[in-house]
Amino acid sequence: MSESRSPFLLPENDLPALPKWLRNSYPKYKFDQLIKKMPLDGMTTVCEEAKCPNRGECISRGIVTVMILGSNCTRACTFCDVDRDQPLQVDPDEPRKMLNMVEYMDSVIQEQSNGKESLSYLVITAPTRDDLFDGGASQFRKVTEYLREHKTNLRIELLIPDFQNQSFAFDEIIAAEPDMICFDIQTVKALYKWIRPGFTYEKALDLFAYFNEHLDKKKISLKSGMMLGLGEKPDEVVSLMQDLLSVGVEYMTMGQYLKAPSMQLPVVDYIEEEQYQFYREQAKELGLWLQASPLTRSSYLADKFFEESSLDVN
Ligand code: SF4
Repeated sequence: MSESRSPFLLPENDLPALPKWLRNSYPKYKFDQLIKKMPLDGMTTVCEEAKCPNRGECISRGIVTVMILGSNCTRACTFCDVDRDQPLQVDPDEPRKMLNMVEYMDSVIQEQSNGKESLSYLVITAPTRDDLFDGGASQFRKVTEYLREHKTNLRIELLIPDFQNQSFAFDEIIAAEPDMICFDIQTVKALYKWIRPGFTYEKALDLFAYFNEHLDKKKISLKSGMMLGLGEKPDEVVSLMQDLLSVGVEYMTMGQYLKAPSMQLPVVDYIEEEQYQFYREQAKELGLWLQASPLTRSSYLADKFFEESSLDVN
């Protein structure tokens, strides 16, 4: 069994400048140009908030991941760059605003494809809102139900915070009937307490176990994501995959952790392609759908990931 160890104390392996394969070649200025045209109406995107390296690419496809419940988080996770200011009031008009965004993204995709494609899959997320009694779960539900009413063919993934493992909040998420519920476990057990203070690896598994027990698996799937490059060991990553599978998670993403200047958590190493290949092979053997590459993020090409796995099943 691996012992808890701090990535803050692990030696950074004389990290060279950011390797080429960790740069998304889509120009980021495109994001700055295109995001201004989107009718966000006071909402923000995790693409901007997290300074995601893929933001030029995703917005070029017409896709962003919108955050509901404001952009200020009530936690202080060491890997995350989301603002930690005073949380904002819940906006009762957010369902309509989200529909507006969906229609806009849809129109961009239709225009780009000459009407051959439309927005098929949407990821919605929110910061952690410990100030709200249900952590914002009822707002996730309202937004999802409103979209369902107006966009019947849209697949919806809810990338949720932990809601302090309150079962009534999880019930709200289940009642919203998204197609996918995603919670990012983020790292292996041995590194957990250094990376996500205020939550534990065991609680993350309990969260999935609750969903697994209470949701209709024909309608809703479970997904999780993790960051690599924090000093995790390959056998610990494989154990994490097994743990996730044991609590009903079928989809998983993994990609390289990158440190923004404002963040404290160091990068320990840059994981190379052969290691991703190893994890992909392990996942296949275990029966887990895994999207793994240096630039993979929880919502990266989420539509394609879902589509490909569904095609393979059918
Ligand atoms: S990977 Fe997700 S967070 Fe990053 S730019 Fe794309 S949609 Fe936004």
